[in-house]
Amino acid sequence: MKDIVIERLDERGVTIESMAELVFELQKQYLDITMEEAVENVEAVLMKREVQNAILTGIEIDLLAEKGLIREPILKIIQNDESLYGIDEILALSITNVYGSIGFTNFGYLDKIKPGVIGKLDKIGKTTGKVHTFLDDLISGIVAAACGRVAHSHGDD
Ligand code: MG
Repeated sequence: MKDIVIERLDERGVTIESMAELVFELQKQYLDITMEEAVENVEAVLMKREVQNAILTGIEIDLLAEKGLIREPILKIIQNDESLYGIDEILALSITNVYGSIGFTNFGYLDKIKPGVIGKLDKIGKTTGKVHTFLDDLISGIVAAACGRVAHSHGDD
């Protein structure tokens, strides 16, 4: 299952490294973290069954919307990534919640700033026929959860 998730993310332009870079960037100001540790933590988040389910579901909805295979009125809403839709964020929060409140705070930050691969997905979604309405939030969720995991594992340092 984890291999399928990594493959599907890769097909949609997201690598483990691109997510780990964001974890590293976000946590290095607080903790003595290495890129290797960031990768390990992203991988650990991807091992969780509820995370895998959220990712595969969100990617599938993006793909169906891209192909026009969802009925109106929800098709246009997803294709246009309308800001009041919110279901994409709710799905992604199911990932973040796995590691508690640090994950939640980071999710809000990532969703607002859209650094690295998250911003790239957002931009591609707005300028091409690709739909990344769910994917950008899922990536924010994975990165936020991995940050939460890193923070927990470092305890008080
Ligand atoms: Mg979105």
